[in-house]
Amino acid sequence: MLVLENAPLAPLTTLRLGGPARRLVTAETDAEVVAVVREADAAGEPLLVIGGGSNLVIGDAGFEGTVLRIATTGFALEGTALELAAGEVWSEAVARTVDAGLAGVEFLAGIPGSAGATPVQNVGAYGQEVATGITEVVAYDRVAGETVTLDNADCAFSYRHSRFKADPDRYVVLRVRFALEDAAGQSSPVRYAEVARTLGAEAGQRVPLRTAYETVLALRAGKGMVLDPADHDTWSAGSFFTNPILTPEEHQAFLSRVEGLNAPLYPAADGCTKTSAAWLIDRAGFTKGYGSGPATLSTKHTLALTNRGRASTEDLLALAREIRDGVHASFGVELVNEPVMVGVEL
Ligand SMILES: Cc1cc2nc3c(=O)[nH]c(=O)nc-3n(C[C@H](O)[C@H](O)[C@H](O)COP(=O)(O)OP(=O)(O)OC[C@H]3O[C@@H](n4cnc5c(N)ncnc54)[C@H](O)[C@@H]3O)c2cc1C
Repeated sequence: MLVLENAPLAPLTTLRLGGPARRLVTAETDAEVVAVVREADAAGEPLLVIGGGSNLVIGDAGFEGTVLRIATTGFALEGTALELAAGEVWSEAVARTVDAGLAGVEFLAGIPGSAGATPVQNVGAYGQEVATGITEVVAYDRVAGETVTLDNADCAFSYRHSRFKADPDRYVVLRVRFALEDAAGQSSPVRYAEVARTLGAEAGQRVPLRTAYETVLALRAGKGMVLDPADHDTWSAGSFFTNPILTPEEHQAFLSRVEGLNAPLYPAADGCTKTSAAWLIDRAGFTKGYGSGPATLSTKHTLALTNRGRASTEDLLALAREIRDGVHASFGVELVNEPVMVGVEL
């Protein structure tokens, strides 16, 4: 177990932002993870768990407490049942499932970060989300002081949300179990229009598994959504804002403001309607590459706020506030940040 005092956190995040941790502990086994959490909790010490740092905005002042970096390993595939240790690199695990000829997470290719973080915000992309494949999550429950196994329903998954996100100081994910599908070398049914168009497939159709995987990787790379240290467009936390979910009343009010603009609208749960944060940002005047300071919008995607190399967290947040307020002024819709804020607020 590696322990460092006053350790810089910026290099552990994909935004490369944030001040130091008072103490940084890297745990390589489940037992080490649990021991660090127990010790911090017993001492009343603030604790921040991190995996790949790809969904985190850490304040310039850093973190006055223990940061636990989960670096556990374990990829166990038996038939179609997959168990991943929390510290496994998600994109590498997805690649291995495709090599094994199994469908279920192929459209989630190229998403940065750790396997253990995927249930936290119910990671999703291109018509697939982990909630569909997860059977169980093994986690250390800091309230009960014991390791528990939560089934899919216990995880309370919804769009970019879960029980783990709702109660962030309670669970530390140790292992994630998936049921994959042996579809004879074919992918899961294509659900996302852009993927279907690119593949010349119909929605609902299956395509060769590797073709689906490679198509998603290429689409993502074109939007700066695959990490590349040499490309500042990928020095981001991915999508900075979630797609707004409008209640029926909000939907009506929104329609009156976007008449004739052909705004993207999709049915969501409970009679609500989802619209596109990227569309709102673009139409409010914040086009690709917007910004002249050290933090700007990605030149490839309006939803990614990026560090051009010399930004501070405050620079990034100033841009985020400008965009949130501009979208609100134009469309009356409040954008909500997707990444987790540590020691800062939007
Ligand atoms: C270029 C880019 C593209 C992206 N594309 C997508 C996308 O398409 N879809 C999508 O959903 N997300 C996307 N993201 C966001 C991000 O990759 C995911 O949210 C990812 O799951 C975060 O994993 P992480 O290990 O980096 O988590 P971190 O950033 O380290 O942590 C995020 C949150 O999870 C908590 N956490 C981490 N590990 C654990 C654990 N083991 N137990 C309990 N809590 C934990 C942390 O405390 C924190 O609150 C993208 C990010 C980038 C930079």
